[in-house]
Amino acid sequence: MLLIRNGRVLDPATKTDATLDILIEGGRISRVGPALDARDAEFFDARGLIVAPGFIDLHCHLREPGGEMSETIETGTQSAARGGFTAVCCMPNTQPVNDNASVTRSIVERAAASGAVRVWPIGAASMGSKGEALAEISAMKAAGIVAVSDDGKPVATARLMRQVMDYCTPLGLPVIDHCEDPSLFAGGVMREGPNSLKLGLPGIPAASESICVGRDIEMALLTGARLHIAHMSTAGSLAYVRAAKRNKLRVTCEVTPHHFTLTDEDVRYDTHYKMNPPLASRADRDALIAGLADGSIDAIATDHAPHHPASKDVEFDRAPFGVVGFETALALGLTELVDSGKLSLARLVELFTTGPARVLGLERTIAAGEPADLTIFSTEHTWTYRAADSPGKSRNSPFDGRSFRGAPMATVVAGRIVYRR
Ligand SMILES: [Zn+2]
Ligand SMILES: [Zn+2]
Repeated sequence: MLLIRNGRVLDPATKTDATLDILIEGGRISRVGPALDARDAEFFDARGLIVAPGFIDLHCHLREPGGEMSETIETGTQSAARGGFTAVCCMPNTQPVNDNASVTRSIVERAAASGAVRVWPIGAASMGSKGEALAEISAMKAAGIVAVSDDGKPVATARLMRQVMDYCTPLGLPVIDHCEDPSLFAGGVMREGPNSLKLGLPGIPAASESICVGRDIEMALLTGARLHIAHMSTAGSLAYVRAAKRNKLRVTCEVTPHHFTLTDEDVRYDTHYKMNPPLASRADRDALIAGLADGSIDAIATDHAPHHPASKDVEFDRAPFGVVGFETALALGLTELVDSGKLSLARLVELFTTGPARVLGLERTIAAGEPADLTIFSTEHTWTYRAADSPGKSRNSPFDGRSFRGAPMATVVAGRIVYRR
């Protein structure tokens, strides 16, 4: 038994914002109320802290199997726990690709044996994510996938996207797409614009993303499928998503902390600023923040993409795309969105909890009978992020050395405290 006392419980699902106690028994919440009494329980004093439903990350790369130099399920989930995440969805671009049930099962088993938090695998849309034949989607669903994606690249053609959607809809699986047009992307390393010209780096036009978002929304209209746009970074993409939502299509989207914090003006010859999609213009960034505030954007997702230091320690154009992100996500949200007055604290919590849960067709709330997954955080705690202190294996963050106000203080998964600051 665990009794979490005197926390400010913020639950977007029920619009609760009150000082309450939460009693946990057998991995589930058993009671929620003021001044609960439980003599035999272990206590957690949450006075002065926010108690939220457990954070869900819809998009990360845990690199296992095949990329254990950069991250494993064990180290990645320890980093996730430190970031306040109680469940993370891992993308299938491992080696081998998670395109069949035996890979899915091995991820689920590894996560049960060594994962600090829940791991919900995402299966590939096509075999090897090569964009040709469909992956074994139905068998992977039986083995535990929660969505389908060829992340790392887009679903190759509109025709294949139609097949994937037709296959996923009766299975109740959302299709997550990494939107880019390869012919426009070709050879680019940062967003095309005045800053790519200034740095002399090959640019990727913003239209590379929005063209593909438009294509996918056309396919969602055709098939009625659930479509989720991964790591959306431009105002043009957001306009398509807003129109789709107005037309009652089942279209959702996510934005990463680095895209709501940084712009292409921040890019320098430092590979920790190289990610895909690339950092966008200031106008795009401001449009994303408006979308986070007004409900057009459903979730904040990290796209945690660890790369071993040696692979990032090369020239900008030769480095792999991607940054780590679990441990700075909440603090960036608090600093950039809430402290700046752009979002309410309740809206930020929604973007980490009920928002991503609904993308997966789940509910997330703090109530008796629900799984005891909770994220307990402070809006006041001051700290400095040191990538070298991370339990994760990689260090590729543009936020290394940055100081923050606000931090995860404890992460509770199935009633167990898996991280405590
Ligand atoms: Zn991607
Ligand atoms: Zn990704």
